[in-house]
Amino acid sequence: MRLNRIASRSIAILLLVIILLGGMGFFLIEYFLNAGDWVMHEGSPHVYSGPNIGTGIVTDRDGILLLDMNGNRTYAVTQALRESTLHWLGDRYGYISAPALPSYAKEMAGYHSLTGLYSYSGAGQATLTLSARLQMVALEALGDYKGTVAVYNYKTGEILCAVSTPTYDPDNVPDIEGDTSGIYEGVYMNRFIQSVYIPGSIFKIVTTAAALEEIPDIQEQTFTCTGTYSYGTDAVTCERSHGTLDFKSAMAQSCNCAYAQIVDQLGAETLRQYVERYQVTQALSFDGITTAAGNFDVNDAAAVQVAWSGIGQHKDQINPCRFMTFMGTIANGGVGVEPYLVSKITCDGSVTYSAQAVRTEQIMPESVAQELQAMMRNNVLEKYGEENFPGLTVCAKSGTGQVGGDQKSNAMFAGFVDDEAYPLAFIVAVEDAGYGRHVCVPILSKVLAECKVLFDAA
Ligand SMILES: [Zn+2]
Repeated sequence: MRLNRIASRSIAILLLVIILLGGMGFFLIEYFLNAGDWVMHEGSPHVYSGPNIGTGIVTDRDGILLLDMNGNRTYAVTQALRESTLHWLGDRYGYISAPALPSYAKEMAGYHSLTGLYSYSGAGQATLTLSARLQMVALEALGDYKGTVAVYNYKTGEILCAVSTPTYDPDNVPDIEGDTSGIYEGVYMNRFIQSVYIPGSIFKIVTTAAALEEIPDIQEQTFTCTGTYSYGTDAVTCERSHGTLDFKSAMAQSCNCAYAQIVDQLGAETLRQYVERYQVTQALSFDGITTAAGNFDVNDAAAVQVAWSGIGQHKDQINPCRFMTFMGTIANGGVGVEPYLVSKITCDGSVTYSAQAVRTEQIMPESVAQELQAMMRNNVLEKYGEENFPGLTVCAKSGTGQVGGDQKSNAMFAGFVDDEAYPLAFIVAVEDAGYGRHVCVPILSKVLAECKVLFDAA
């Protein structure tokens, strides 16, 4: 009896030991597999300061310091550089969170399973694709306007410039809450990735591509514009009569009546399918960032509303980053290269992250992309003025998004440089500004000239 009792107690203790050892083993395995994530958890005070990571330094593409995240965060020396990069770096108080950097916390802090946070001292260094010089030029070019200007390399995917206004100096924070003038409206938002705009006529690029794919004789057609194209009691209108136009001039003159006739030939469902295939309204993800999604909705739309949808009005909305990427796809012959912001991360001298170009599938036949390139080139020659872009083969389309109410229209301009030496795609969106071409061309002219300097120096 006693022996049995001792034996059963021994078995019980043995079982407990087995459970204990098993548990420890399980924990150790979990530790090695997941410790990095636990340490990098958003609540970890070693790595984060508010929503932003609190270790390492961030530089522009040329090594110019943008932010030292150790301690109380030291921003760039130049005020214009602090203001123009704030939406990518985040502020000290968590009103603006850096959209890309937290996803690389592990690479920045150099976490290692055996030694723990060996570079907790802040040895991590992130190199962004942005050019400090370009950021400052774009900020100055935007002036007091609200909006965004962005340029990316459509061969590599590097975002060279992306500025969102209004902005402010993180080292000299203004009284934003107390301001009643409206100049800081939406100041915490990165308009390039978080906003959507009514595209206006830059959306005609989408309709033009669909027409090139779908209507065999579109290049031979002519369109008559009397200033009004009627749908019963409703109508699509132009500001003046454009007379008789071929397809190329219909785009250059941005004739709404001609585009209404083109949309009539396409039909709502076909146009919707092309918008989907070109991914123009889809959210885009890179560096842990997901952009706002756009909108194209012709459900239950009357014919006149479908026509306006093909002209970039009705319920159309686009995100600037996504639309810029679409411009790169056209420049690239129908194959997109996704944009990115973080170029490289090193920690204690070793490279912990290095960006690679991500190419998308062919979303448009190469022949169609080439015809679009020629038509968008013609827009610049016929309408926007080649002298505004010296030495650059700019292809573009302007747009004026009618917002309604008291606001003036949103000025839009999108396109690319058709030159292997300057593989640049761009978007300009300026709020409450008026005509796309008048407002955007002078801004873009300054930014592209500086891009050319950057490429010529390389
Ligand atoms: Zn017209």
